[in-house]
Amino acid sequence: MSYSDNIVAMATPPGTGAIAIIRISGPEAIALVSKHFEPIKPKDLTKQKSHTIHLGHVVHQEKVLDKVLVSIFKSPNSYTGENVVEISCHGSPYIQQQLLQLFLRTGCRMATAGEFTLRAFLNGKMDLSQAEAVADLIASDSEASHEIAVQQMRGGFSNEIQKLREELLNFASLIELELDFSQEDVEFADRTQFNSLLKRISEVLKKLIDSFAIGNVIKNGIPIAIVGKPNVGKSTLLNALLNEERAIVSNIPGTTRDTVEDQINLGGINFRFIDTAGIRETQDMVEKIGIEKTFDKIENAKLILFLFDGLDYDLKELEDLKGKYPNKEVLPICNKVDLLTIVERDQIQSSVSDLLFLSAKDRTGVPELEQKLSSLVVSGALSGDSTIVSNSRHYDALLKALEEIQKVKEGMDMGLSSDLMAIDIRQALYHLGEITGSVTTDDLLGNIFSNFCIGK
Ligand code: GDP
Repeated sequence: MSYSDNIVAMATPPGTGAIAIIRISGPEAIALVSKHFEPIKPKDLTKQKSHTIHLGHVVHQEKVLDKVLVSIFKSPNSYTGENVVEISCHGSPYIQQQLLQLFLRTGCRMATAGEFTLRAFLNGKMDLSQAEAVADLIASDSEASHEIAVQQMRGGFSNEIQKLREELLNFASLIELELDFSQEDVEFADRTQFNSLLKRISEVLKKLIDSFAIGNVIKNGIPIAIVGKPNVGKSTLLNALLNEERAIVSNIPGTTRDTVEDQINLGGINFRFIDTAGIRETQDMVEKIGIEKTFDKIENAKLILFLFDGLDYDLKELEDLKGKYPNKEVLPICNKVDLLTIVERDQIQSSVSDLLFLSAKDRTGVPELEQKLSSLVVSGALSGDSTIVSNSRHYDALLKALEEIQKVKEGMDMGLSSDLMAIDIRQALYHLGEITGSVTTDDLLGNIFSNFCIGK
């Protein structure tokens, strides 16, 4: 598929900068720029080689608008696969607007959100999951989410899916061929080989599906619940971690009625801290709702920080918590260490194992807690170089594909006829193709690319 029109957009964010870049893509990109470009060394821009840079002035009606560098990328060796020109101009908003308007008057139209990447996809420069990774890469705000996006952009699991899909497609055509000879009871598709392919596909799909839990968590932040009786200092700890006054701090028990969440980045990982209402018995309806929410939040958290006040504690609650969530990691923390004597401290230390002491108020022990969090979670969640799926659209398609593959397998085991099996195989092919973009609809593409920024 190729477009006949030329698109233009700023590739750099709005506002003043040292340099701004205007990008033009389309069949006439180079010719259009050439109309307004006067190179320092006289030359015909349209005759220059791909991947070259040229210094000169952009001139309109004999008026110099700016001194710029023009980079040329010729089709098909460009980001979009079309002719592409990038003009690096001085970063004043006035110059940017002047140049943009000039090219809009000269045969370009404004690119829609994600249109450069959409064209790259439609011209076969990247598959759909790679195109989506471009958006993830731009949005990534931590080392881990950046790593996942880079891996996906380089092909990641979509290459593997594409290969398996081709093998499945092969079998599908053999099985469909059997339909033409249904009277003769022949089998073109070797059932043993087919079985082993289905097994391989299921294994790959399952592995990718499982990785989503980690991928999603890295992209959206690892949820950590801070739990403890009212007034033990949960909100103060959250503020200390956030370095901001965001949660409500007061010494009236039960102030934190609703949950407060915020993200902080520790050692390259985003953590989502959830300050929860205390889990005490209460008659207050509003607080009761808050406490129920607490249980939901704990259920979803990767780690529970159990906070208690060193001057007034009841370790039964810690035991209850561990009993209620036997599979969750609970980290006991004794707060308000600034108010404790050494004897009191030792006494607490001897009754709780793996305990951390801190003072949320003066930040003593907070850096140690941060350290502990990153090492705990990072070692568990990010170990190995396994492929990670972080996109919920892919996750959904993987689940559906696995479901269909399992149906095909069951059909084989039951000796289902080729025509019925062919229907399930086609469904599986469809969902696998949705990931790489071998199967697309306009709605799907519109939905994906409209989430991009203009100029990408
Ligand atoms: P929450 O109900 O668990 O969220 O508790 P808050 O964070 O609202 O804190 C309750 C009271 O304890 C406030 O008056 C805080 O200033 C005080 N507080 C919290 N952390 C510390 C600490 O480390 N040392 C001391 N001395 N007071 C603290």
